[in-house]
Amino acid sequence: MSLASSPSLNASDVERDELEVDLLLVGAGPANLACAIHAQRLLAERGMDEATVLVIDKAEEIGHHTLSGSVMNPRGIAELFPDWRERGFPVESEVTDDALVILRGKGKHARLGGLLAPPQLRNHGNLIVSLNRVVCWLAAQAEELGVEVYPGFAASEVLLEGERVTGVQIRDSGLAADGGRKPNFEPGMDVRSPLTVFGEGPRGHLAKGLIRRLGLDEGRNPQTFGTGVKELWEVPAERGRELVGTVLHTAGHPLGADGYGGGWIYGLDEERLSLGFVVGLDHHDAALDPHALFVRFKQHPFVAHLLEGGKVLRYGAKTIPEGGLFAMPRLSGDGFCLVGDTAGFLNASTLKGVHLAIKSGMLAAEAMVDALAAKDTSARATARYDELFESSWAFDELHRVRNWRQAFDSGLLGGMLDAGVQMISGGRGLVKRRAGHADHTTTRPLSESRMTPPVCNDGACMDKLTDVYHSGTVHEEDQPSHLLILDPSVCVDRCSEEFGNPCRHFCPAAVYEWPEEGAAEGVRISASNCVHCKTCDIADPYENIEWVVPEGGGGPKYVDM
Ligand code: SF4
Repeated sequence: MSLASSPSLNASDVERDELEVDLLLVGAGPANLACAIHAQRLLAERGMDEATVLVIDKAEEIGHHTLSGSVMNPRGIAELFPDWRERGFPVESEVTDDALVILRGKGKHARLGGLLAPPQLRNHGNLIVSLNRVVCWLAAQAEELGVEVYPGFAASEVLLEGERVTGVQIRDSGLAADGGRKPNFEPGMDVRSPLTVFGEGPRGHLAKGLIRRLGLDEGRNPQTFGTGVKELWEVPAERGRELVGTVLHTAGHPLGADGYGGGWIYGLDEERLSLGFVVGLDHHDAALDPHALFVRFKQHPFVAHLLEGGKVLRYGAKTIPEGGLFAMPRLSGDGFCLVGDTAGFLNASTLKGVHLAIKSGMLAAEAMVDALAAKDTSARATARYDELFESSWAFDELHRVRNWRQAFDSGLLGGMLDAGVQMISGGRGLVKRRAGHADHTTTRPLSESRMTPPVCNDGACMDKLTDVYHSGTVHEEDQPSHLLILDPSVCVDRCSEEFGNPCRHFCPAAVYEWPEEGAAEGVRISASNCVHCKTCDIADPYENIEWVVPEGGGGPKYVDM
């Protein structure tokens, strides 16, 4: 029996090949690769070398769907590989300077560096990395140990027997847009395993179905997300040299006191900058547009000056789980567990999750190998992962900032005060759990919207389609859309009226277009532009959009992101 996290795109009347492995990891991000590496080593220590560990990923090549800022706390990688430096772990630069920059009106700014910088944004000792290069390196380490790593395998459904996860089904390839079978049709295989680890990134579509079906989030806060939009820039060397190792976070313009979010600028090397903007998807404005905010951020003279004479190399977007400890679901169940961003391992106060993702993978590996060795992969056995997490430094770190993101529900100024008290008290005070909210419930009627589109009138500020070009996104065009509108009449009859169809704004890849004339026909979906950020699956006010996985290999092609 299989469980679709949404209506299935797979054919129902075909025979499928089966592949059996001992440990299956869905998604090749830092959490799952750390899990595979640690598990393979533990299996070898126990003389279980014959066990098969398989990592699958929907991207055409490992790393193509991985994107982050990224400043990394080295604690996680140092546990996974104490000799990480000697092994050649890819570091773009060590952090040598950091500051919070308040971007103000009339082109002004204030730089808060040194002791004036908020403690959670001080980054000395951390590393500026390309997460995309990091996962390629981790995948190579895993393969060296004997882990099988298969890119281009898009897991479309969870295989279940009762409440027990028994593996995943791979998406069929060769289906035409109308559902018919093309000459190259090939049914996706069933990959069976006594243990499946879901590390699909934020809002994993399989994990979403499992969490709902098994009530893994019962008694927890709803997860809350931000959408981050990023570009990689080449800048003139004389400016790039000054910024190597510099970590700047920004507040103020263009959000002001409306909503949670801010920008970043990281100096990777003498010629390249990583810059981007994140905004919380609980923003009230029905016309919230993360890409438009990013454009306005780049247009502030402080940022525009840094980009002068440069050119954009890459573009991408992803969501970030910001809800913290109280928004994390139960981490394990019968035959499975959840790791990394999929489970909400992110410290929103420091904007860091890679070290927590690696740690979650290592803890999961310990519990899963114990379960395999005991030939007991029941929920009782896998729950050891939850226990290991609760006695780890990862739990302590997240516990100290357990109410961080919720503090900002009362607005930016109240939130800063509240979060400041949390930092000063080291998390000892404010024990009481703050309630959360699902992002899609916070949108206010279109009549209250204040957002207007930016003018993209210079080389630094591109429209969405130009940026999508820089993401390298490609999908097989003739396939069923992987963006499902559950009830199209809601879009036309209700959403147009109440919210003005926010999908046309919040998607950072211009996938959803509404014709100016003839809106009654409904939305036009350019699914082939989708960069797999999952914003639409989270932010649609009626929960009317369901993201499901397209054919394996489709999506962005992030390099150095
Ligand atoms: Fe992101 Fe959805 Fe747009 Fe794809 S369609 S880029 S998942 S918002």
